[in-house]
Amino acid sequence: MKELDKKEKEYLLNSIRAIKDFPKPGIVFRDITTLLNDKEAFNFLMDHLTARYENFGIDFIAGIESRGFIFGAALAARLRLPFVPIRKPKKLPYITISQKYSLEYGVDEVQIHIDAFGEKEDARVLLIDDLIATGGTAKASVELIDQTKAKCVEACFLIDLKELGGSGTLKKLTKIYSVLEI
Ligand code: AMP
Repeated sequence: MKELDKKEKEYLLNSIRAIKDFPKPGIVFRDITTLLNDKEAFNFLMDHLTARYENFGIDFIAGIESRGFIFGAALAARLRLPFVPIRKPKKLPYITISQKYSLEYGVDEVQIHIDAFGEKEDARVLLIDDLIATGGTAKASVELIDQTKAKCVEACFLIDLKELGGSGTLKKLTKIYSVLEI
């Protein structure tokens, strides 16, 4: 299965801006708007994801709000697959199913429409987000997909912040592919 070589990873990493102390002191925020604004880098990434997933037997691509929508919907259009947005509470208008997860303080929730993955047994879903940190959102999203008749066959991230441990936990639930590790 295709992965990028060192030079290609460096090229993509250089297209992502790092902002220190945003949104709070101590956090290095990985700003993917600079990648999106660079048409060569954005298309290089999309070409890579298209090559990786075009013969993967995927039925649906699910993107996590909100930056997962950008990469997930772009990939779904290229692969001519249906796209499912995984949203924060009270955004979706029809009947929803939910999965709660813990935050440092309090709880949050992710939701999809009840009919998002259709009726087919074992529909194969690729989950996408821009970045995995502690992995709370991604884990809840896999659990949400697994509440339906569909199953998450791989979770794909542009960036894995390895030392925060999210991917280590998530890999107990599903396969993971991260384009870049930091
Ligand atoms: P987590 O649930 O901790 O894995 O957080 C993942 C979500 O938070 C992703 O949707 C990211 O977009 C966002 N996020 C967390 N940490 C960062 C960071 N350092 N830079 C940019 N986005 C981040």
